[in-house]
Amino acid sequence: MSFLIRCPNCGERSVTEFRFGGETHPRPVLEAPFREWADYLYARKNEAGPQREWWYHRLGCKKWFLAIRDTTTNEVHETFWFGEK
Ligand SMILES: [Zn+2]
Repeated sequence: MSFLIRCPNCGERSVTEFRFGGETHPRPVLEAPFREWADYLYARKNEAGPQREWWYHRLGCKKWFLAIRDTTTNEVHETFWFGEK
């Protein structure tokens, strides 16, 4: 089974054209305690199921976008630009 991702700019392409950028999580405020920054930088939820992630179209338009991907099936439910949702 092929693993396809829909770039919001270029359309559906093979996953080999993309770079995985990791799960998203909100950035703490600048004055947040060290522990909060450490969690932001190093802790990951590693959800089993739908997860919001960064993807980069490295062999296409070279743009970053977001995807909701089910980590148990690799099914990509939707893709969109940052700030769109
Ligand atoms: Zn693209």
